[in-house]
Amino acid sequence: MLLVVNAGSSSIKLAVFDDRLQQVLAGSVTEIGGAGRLRCGYFAAACAAPDHRAALALMFDAMAGQGAPLSALTAAAHRVVHGGEALVQPCRITPAVVAGIESCVPLAPLHNPANLTAINALADLAPDLPQYASFDTAFHASNPAVAVTYALPLAERERGLRRYGFHGISYAGLVDSLGADVPRRLLALHLGNGASACAILDGRSVASTMGYSPLDGLTMGTRCGAIDGNAVLRLVELHGAEGAARILNRESGLLALGGTNDMRALQEAGTPEAAFARDHFRYWAVRHCGSLIAAMEGLDAIAFTGGIGENDAEMREAIAAGLAWAGNVSVLVVQAEEERTIAAEAQSLQRSGL
Ligand code: ADP
Repeated sequence: MLLVVNAGSSSIKLAVFDDRLQQVLAGSVTEIGGAGRLRCGYFAAACAAPDHRAALALMFDAMAGQGAPLSALTAAAHRVVHGGEALVQPCRITPAVVAGIESCVPLAPLHNPANLTAINALADLAPDLPQYASFDTAFHASNPAVAVTYALPLAERERGLRRYGFHGISYAGLVDSLGADVPRRLLALHLGNGASACAILDGRSVASTMGYSPLDGLTMGTRCGAIDGNAVLRLVELHGAEGAARILNRESGLLALGGTNDMRALQEAGTPEAAFARDHFRYWAVRHCGSLIAAMEGLDAIAFTGGIGENDAEMREAIAAGLAWAGNVSVLVVQAEEERTIAAEAQSLQRSGL
């Protein structure tokens, strides 16, 4: 059995897969450091999880109770948000890889530390268990330099200020699921709480809407999407750097425009504000996709994934209608299976002796 670990800033999601990559168990600890809630298979309860290490220990007890003890695992695979410029392939976690993930902490200050805590806690609890990492940035390593370079002075660029792109595990899984049938110029949209789009040419990412961080691009649940840097500076003047970061990342987007970050609730609300929030989401998705279609010099198919992309047919149709000028192309809906993709990447590394 193979364990997939997705550690976020205040939650850890786990999924266990068998050798045929069928999911056999899933669980999560949420509100780490707060109220604490543990879910594992059919079991759900309040829990005391002051930090990620405690959360993992509680989760492993619950997993053992449901037939998946640590001793039955053959490997663990982590979703790591930021691999920077160097970590651009799934890999076995070695001390050098841990150092690489550490060096990316300034790029993903909320996420990479949570990933490292989970990796270290697992190494303590099960020292012989091989651990692997898949990176959310890696799929975009194939973007040309012109697509990822900010036109900033060299000294700033050398600090790692460039576009990286995210949701890469989702896009890699999407391409994999289409197999040999992957359309040559594919526009993929991962529309969930975080939302992005990616231009995929011959199965490889050539451009995407997220940038230095996941803030850029589409209007999202609580992120504002693309915004002028000088407007950001004004927010910093008014609210300080921390306040501005909070506003941009957690208090903006659909939440700010429509009163909730939940797209389904916006669809059902029927208020003018909710309708405007949905229209803002649609309009900017279409505008950004236009830029991606230009990067691919045309369009053969559109693929939607993520909670909104998979379930909100009205939004899918509205975005596809806004792109009708690019041709009468097929529209695909693909289930986001990031955990299975991470498991598959780790299994393939393990089978090749890595
Ligand atoms: P995350 O990015 O947190 O993984 P998801 O991919 O689960 O999020 O997507 C969550 C979003 O999907 C929410 O805005 C939710 O309202 C939306 N969603 C889920 N089901 C539907 C539906 N049937 N209609 C419209 N929106 C939906």
